[in-house]
Amino acid sequence: MSLLVVGSVAFDCLESPYGKVERALGGAATYFAVAASFFTPVNLVGIVGDDFTEVDARIFHGRTIDLEGLERAEGKTFFWSGVYSQNLNERTTRVTDLNVFANFKPKLPEKYRSSKYVFLANIAPDLQRDVLEQVKVRPKLAALDTMNYWIERTPTELRETLRHIDILVINDAETRQLSSEHNLLRAARHIFKMGPSSLVVKRGEYGAMLVDKQGVFCVPAFPLEEPHDPTGAGDSFAGGFMGYLAAAGRTTDLYLRRAMVYGSVMGSFTVESFGLDRLRKLKRNEIHARARHFAKLTQFKL
Ligand code: AMP
Repeated sequence: MSLLVVGSVAFDCLESPYGKVERALGGAATYFAVAASFFTPVNLVGIVGDDFTEVDARIFHGRTIDLEGLERAEGKTFFWSGVYSQNLNERTTRVTDLNVFANFKPKLPEKYRSSKYVFLANIAPDLQRDVLEQVKVRPKLAALDTMNYWIERTPTELRETLRHIDILVINDAETRQLSSEHNLLRAARHIFKMGPSSLVVKRGEYGAMLVDKQGVFCVPAFPLEEPHDPTGAGDSFAGGFMGYLAAAGRTTDLYLRRAMVYGSVMGSFTVESFGLDRLRKLKRNEIHARARHFAKLTQFKL
């Protein structure tokens, strides 16, 4: 089943202890769409400026990513700059320039309006809601990601959007910030009162945790000797997670758990290189091989 995503398409300036890239193609929707397209067709809603060239667009070509919803406007593409700490666990944002996103009024192509799976990737919460409202019938699954930038600047709009969401997919720092709770289980209880019935907490090198009415499920991060750049790992996780669910057409506990593993698999590939470099070269058989590796990694007898 096809999957709808709205979110940033961006140019990023990335700096980690492993190096610096001045201008890499990025954006939450870009990572998400590329990762999810290994599992299912993706319809992408977003906007780019006139500095976004045909060469940049090649990341989407040859994949099942529909670009009718990707608007081109006069002006500059969203720009973000971030720097990582020595152990890659902390990130500081240096610059966020919304550019063409500042006045974006998305109009969903007709064929996107019956989407059953919707992912509202990181972008302004009122924009996320606008897209969700244009989907005619309530989707089978609507999930949302956000970050400190929006939690701090647009808390009211974010609260309103969260009321319409099934699964919130955010990192541990954002979970604590949004709920004002340090403990993640208490944070989950708090977040359930805001609308979502499930919470997926992305915890970087410590893996990810799903909390819902069935209980708690944890998946590790894939142990890597040389992670290079965590940018986009969260969006790639979400792409693997939602892509797997949309392809399966099922959202029972068994499928949610498998989706967590495929999310962790996709995130682990992204951190291996800067920007989208690893996802560009990725082959489907590598995804399944790594998923099998995850099964071995977590298997034990009682
Ligand atoms: P992640 O590392 O998965 O949290 O996502 C990184 C991507 O998010 C980068 O490629 C950025 O372009 C994008 N990004 C950073 N800040 C924002 C923001 N405030 N809104 C939307 N996208 C953002």
